[in-house]
Amino acid sequence: MTGVAPAIAEPVLQLDEVTKIYPGATPVVALDKASFSIRRGDLVAIVGPSGSGKSTLLQVMGTLDRPTTGTVRVVGDDVARMSDRALAGLRATRIGFVFQQFFLSAHATALENVADGMLYSGARHGTRLEAAAAALARVGLGHRVGHRPPELSGGERQRVAIARALVGNPAIVLADEPTGNLDSVSGAAIFQLLQELNAEGATIIMITHDRELAARLPRRIEVLDGAVVADVESAEQPLFSERRLP
Ligand code: ADP
Repeated sequence: MTGVAPAIAEPVLQLDEVTKIYPGATPVVALDKASFSIRRGDLVAIVGPSGSGKSTLLQVMGTLDRPTTGTVRVVGDDVARMSDRALAGLRATRIGFVFQQFFLSAHATALENVADGMLYSGARHGTRLEAAAAALARVGLGHRVGHRPPELSGGERQRVAIARALVGNPAIVLADEPTGNLDSVSGAAIFQLLQELNAEGATIIMITHDRELAARLPRRIEVLDGAVVADVESAEQPLFSERRLP
């Protein structure tokens, strides 16, 4: 715990005894009664070796897949009670995704790619473009708004993807191995950017197999064979500092 008064605010994400079994000739228990909650303003690594269940956890946390048993709540809403359509809306407005492979549209400019992050918000095109420009400036790409992904470096592409994830001001950003496709210098810059965005108030969950990287985040949830085996806050972090919330 942080040493400050316990947070009374509702968790932004809560998993209770989540199990995911992939059926088949030999069913695989990919998640085994995983429970944890993420608070607003958290910066958390979900860390584990290959095959430990991280991708499955990402799918379940991101409401891209439903658990076999157990409960997932996003900002208090039990996702099991929601229709696919309602879930798509929740995903589009409450969760920002950042993937190792960026997943940007090669034919659209950085500005258009980021504005697409607000497609489901109901905001007008002009409003979306303004928000996209602000988000690109926030990630240090204000001078590249008109560039298309093929004209950008890997690190710049990931900044565009991060801006797209953040533009709708989601409750949670899920970053899946966000530095996995980058050289060490660009990767370090992206890692630092995520830390800065968290300091500005973004709630960020980073999925990684890299224990060294995870060790530099203030909280780590370790998974092994689908189970949460540790949920620790680092003593090296300034535990007693005030959390900066938006
Ligand atoms: P990680 O992302 O940590 O590498 P995964 O969540 O991808 O782990 O996988 C967890 C376990 O579930 C592994 O044993 C994997 O082989 C298995 N698994 C993943 N996806 C499927 C699937 N679609 N069908 C069957 N087994 C799967």
